[in-house]
Amino acid sequence: MTNTKNIFPGLIAHCKEYGFIFPSSEIYEGLQAVYDYGQMGSELKKNIRDHWWKNMTQLHDNIVGIDAAIFMHPTTWKASGHIDNFNDPMIDNKDSKKRYRVDHLIEGFADEQLAAGHEELAKEVLKCMDALLAKDDFTGLKKLIDDNKIKCAISGTCNWTDIRQFNLMFSTEFGSIAATGETDNKVYLRPETAQGIFVNFLNVQKSGRMKIPFGIAQVGKAFRNEIVARQFIFRMREFEQMEMQFFIRPGTQKEWYEYWKAERLKWHLELGIPGNKYRYHDHVKLAHYADAACDIEYEFPFGFKEVEGIHSRTDFDLTQHQEYSKKKMQYFDNDIDVSTGKPFGNYIPYVIETSIGLDRMFLLVMSHAYEEQDLGTPDKPDSRVVLKLPAKLAPIKLAILPLTKKDGLPEIATKIMDACRADFRCFYEEKDSIGKRYRRMDALGTPFCVTIDHQTKEDDTVTIRYRDTMLQERIPITKIRDIVTKEIS
Ligand code: ATP
Repeated sequence: MTNTKNIFPGLIAHCKEYGFIFPSSEIYEGLQAVYDYGQMGSELKKNIRDHWWKNMTQLHDNIVGIDAAIFMHPTTWKASGHIDNFNDPMIDNKDSKKRYRVDHLIEGFADEQLAAGHEELAKEVLKCMDALLAKDDFTGLKKLIDDNKIKCAISGTCNWTDIRQFNLMFSTEFGSIAATGETDNKVYLRPETAQGIFVNFLNVQKSGRMKIPFGIAQVGKAFRNEIVARQFIFRMREFEQMEMQFFIRPGTQKEWYEYWKAERLKWHLELGIPGNKYRYHDHVKLAHYADAACDIEYEFPFGFKEVEGIHSRTDFDLTQHQEYSKKKMQYFDNDIDVSTGKPFGNYIPYVIETSIGLDRMFLLVMSHAYEEQDLGTPDKPDSRVVLKLPAKLAPIKLAILPLTKKDGLPEIATKIMDACRADFRCFYEEKDSIGKRYRRMDALGTPFCVTIDHQTKEDDTVTIRYRDTMLQERIPITKIRDIVTKEIS
C-alpha cells in the first residue's frame, strides 16, 4: 500500500499534471532552477505561508511581521558580509566545462559509495570534507577529490581545475545608468530576507514600543545564483524564505537558541509528520556571523537534507549596520539586573534566527503526502495516487459532487457550495463518474468529498467520503460545515 520505491520522479510528474508546479517559461524550454506554482500549488504554498505566519506572529505576543523591499541599499550587503563572504567553493571539470559546488560533488560521491554498500568510505569522506571546509582548506579538498578519483558525471574524467570561490548574489542596475557609465548603480537582489529585518530593527522597536525579548518575522523572495541547482524545487535560484529574528539580551543566547530549536521542530511535528523523519544537524563550520547553528533536516526522497536553519547570530549584524550607517542600533533595557540592582541599560541586542525555505517546506509537505497505492486484487487491478495533505494545508478542502447533472441535484449542490465557500475553499464538479471524480480529488489532496444523490432530496443527507481511509458515511447537510471546519482549524 505505501511508498517503498523512489517516489521522486512520480512526484515531480504529479506536480505538473495536477497544476502544482510548472518549469518557469516552459514554452521556451524553461529556465534552470526557476519554477512557477500553478493553480493548486499557489494555493498550497499560500496555506503553508499563512500557517507559519499565524504561528509566528498571531500566536506569539512578542513577534510582529514586516514586509521589506527586495532591493536594499548596496551598503547593506557590504555590512552584512555578503559581498565579501557569500561564496561557495567551486571546481570545474576541464573536459565537460561543468562547474560543481565542491561539497555537492563530494556528497554525490559519498551517496554513490553508500548505495554501493561502502558505508565506511562514505562516512570517512564526509567527515574529512567537513573538517577541510571548516578550515577553508582548498588544497586539502582538491586532494580529497583527486585521491578518491571523483569523476565528473558528464565527461567521466577526473580532469579538474583548482578550487575557487564564487559569489552567489545576483546584481542589476538601479535607476538610469549614467551616460558616462561612471556612476556605480549596482544593486543586489537580496540573497536572504534577514537584512530587511535588521535595517528596520529600530523602526519596528520604536514604532511598536517593542520590549526585549521580541521578534520580527518576514516572508519574501530571496535570490541566489546557485551554481548547481538540483532536486526540483529543493535548490532554486529564486525562492521564498520565512524568517524570524528574535532580539534578546546579550548572554541569554544559549537558552533562546535551545528554545527556538525545540519550538521550530514542534511546529513541524504539529503538522502530523512523524518525528523519525526529522533530525538536527549541528554545524561544524559556523558562518561568519554565528556562535551556534544547526539545521532541521527532513528525510526527503533523496535523503536527509536541510529544511530550516536555527542560527545564533550574536550582535554581528546590528553592530555591522551601526558601523556602516553610523546610526546607533542600541536598545535601552530598563529591567533591573539583580546582580547589580541597576537597569541593564544600553546594549546592542543579540539575535536568534529561524530561517525556513517556503519552497523546501512545500517539497517536504508534498513528499510526505504523496502515495502511490495499489488497491487491486489479483483479478481486479486498481490503484490510486493520493496526496495525504494535512487538511489545513490542502488547496481544496471540500469537493461537492452531485451524482447526476439532473433531477435537481446540482441545485442542492450549489446551495451547499454557497453555504460553505466563504469559510473554506470548495470545488464543484458534475462531470465524469463518481469514482473518477473521487480519484481526481485524491490526487489533489482534497480531504473531504460530499455526494448529493436522490436520497438527499428525501432526507437532506449526503454521503461524505474521507480521502485517506476512503470510508463513506451518511450525514445531514447541516453537519458538513462543522466537520470540515473542525479539521482545518
Ligand atoms: P544550503 O546549505 O542548502 O545551501 P543554506 O544553509 O545556505 O542552505 P540558509 O542560508 O540557512 O540556507 O537559508 C535558510 C533556508 O532557506 C534553508 O534552510 C532553505 O530552506 C532555504 N534555502 C536556502 N537556499 C535555497 C535555495 N537555493 N532554494 C530553495 N530554498 C533555499
